Amino acid sequence: MSTKKPLLMLSIGRLLCCHFGHRLHISRRITNHIKEYSCSRCGQEMTDTANGFVADLTPRLQETNTFLAKIHERRRNRKMILKAS
Ligand SMILES: [Zn+2]
Repeated sequence: MSTKKPLLMLSIGRLLCCHFGHRLHISRRITNHIKEYSCSRCGQEMTDTANGFVADLTPRLQETNTFLAKIHERRRNRKMILKAS
Protein backbone atom coordinates (compact mmCIF):
# COMPACT_ATOMS: atom_id res chain seq x y z
CA MET A 1 0.00 0.00 0.00
CA SER A 2 2.78 2.42 0.87
CA THR A 3 4.50 1.81 -2.48
CA LYS A 4 1.43 2.78 -4.53
CA LYS A 5 0.98 6.29 -3.15
CA PRO A 6 4.49 7.67 -4.00
CA LEU A 7 4.23 6.06 -7.43
CA LEU A 8 0.91 7.86 -8.01
CA MET A 9 2.38 11.18 -6.81
CA LEU A 10 5.39 10.64 -9.02
CA SER A 11 3.24 10.08 -12.10
CA ILE A 12 1.12 13.18 -11.34
CA GLY A 13 4.33 15.20 -10.89
CA ARG A 14 5.69 13.90 -14.18
CA LEU A 15 2.38 14.64 -15.87
CA LEU A 16 2.44 18.23 -14.58
CA CYS A 17 6.06 18.60 -15.71
CA CYS A 18 5.13 17.31 -19.19
CA HIS A 19 2.46 19.99 -19.53
CA PHE A 20 3.92 22.96 -17.66
CA GLY A 21 7.64 22.22 -17.69
CA HIS A 22 9.97 21.40 -14.81
CA ARG A 23 10.37 23.55 -11.71
CA LEU A 24 14.14 23.54 -11.55
CA HIS A 25 16.16 24.77 -8.61
CA ILE A 26 19.93 24.66 -8.23
CA SER A 27 21.00 21.60 -6.27
CA ARG A 28 24.78 21.91 -6.72
CA ARG A 29 27.14 24.56 -8.07
CA ILE A 30 29.97 22.91 -10.00
CA THR A 31 31.69 26.04 -11.36
CA ASN A 32 30.57 29.61 -11.93
CA HIS A 33 28.89 28.56 -15.20
CA ILE A 34 27.96 24.90 -14.67
CA LYS A 35 25.29 23.88 -12.19
CA GLU A 36 23.18 20.83 -11.40
CA TYR A 37 19.43 21.30 -11.11
CA SER A 38 16.66 19.27 -9.52
CA CYS A 39 12.94 19.48 -10.27
CA SER A 40 10.87 20.16 -7.16
CA ARG A 41 7.85 18.33 -8.61
CA CYS A 42 9.17 15.14 -10.15
CA GLY A 43 12.73 15.02 -8.76
CA GLN A 44 14.42 14.76 -12.15
CA GLU A 45 18.04 15.95 -12.10
CA MET A 46 19.57 18.00 -14.91
CA THR A 47 22.84 19.78 -15.59
CA ASP A 48 24.34 22.44 -17.82
CA THR A 49 26.38 20.98 -20.65
CA ALA A 50 29.44 22.28 -22.49
CA ASN A 51 27.16 23.39 -25.37
CA GLY A 52 25.18 25.67 -23.08
CA PHE A 53 22.09 23.46 -23.00
CA VAL A 54 20.44 21.78 -20.03
CA ALA A 55 20.47 17.98 -20.27
CA ASP A 56 19.39 15.04 -18.10
CA LEU A 57 21.98 14.20 -15.47
CA THR A 58 23.39 10.86 -16.59
CA PRO A 59 26.01 8.95 -14.57
CA ARG A 60 28.61 10.00 -17.14
CA LEU A 61 27.71 13.71 -16.84
CA GLN A 62 27.66 13.36 -13.04
CA GLU A 63 31.18 11.90 -13.14
CA THR A 64 32.31 14.74 -15.43
CA ASN A 65 30.80 17.32 -13.06
CA THR A 66 32.54 15.76 -10.06
CA PHE A 67 35.86 15.94 -11.92
CA LEU A 68 35.20 19.57 -12.96
CA ALA A 69 34.33 20.47 -9.36
CA LYS A 70 37.65 19.06 -8.16
CA ILE A 71 39.59 21.07 -10.78
CA HIS A 72 37.63 24.24 -9.99
CA GLU A 73 38.21 23.83 -6.25
CA ARG A 74 41.94 23.25 -6.79
CA ARG A 75 42.25 26.37 -8.99
CA ARG A 76 40.28 28.46 -6.49
CA ASN A 77 42.53 27.31 -3.63
CA ARG A 78 45.62 28.10 -5.71
CA LYS A 79 44.35 31.65 -6.38
CA MET A 80 43.64 32.14 -2.66
CA ILE A 81 47.22 31.09 -1.79
CA LEU A 82 48.67 33.47 -4.42
CA LYS A 83 46.58 36.37 -3.12
CA ALA A 84 47.63 35.70 0.47
CA SER A 85 51.35 35.78 -0.36
ZN1 LIG B 1 9.78 17.93 -13.17
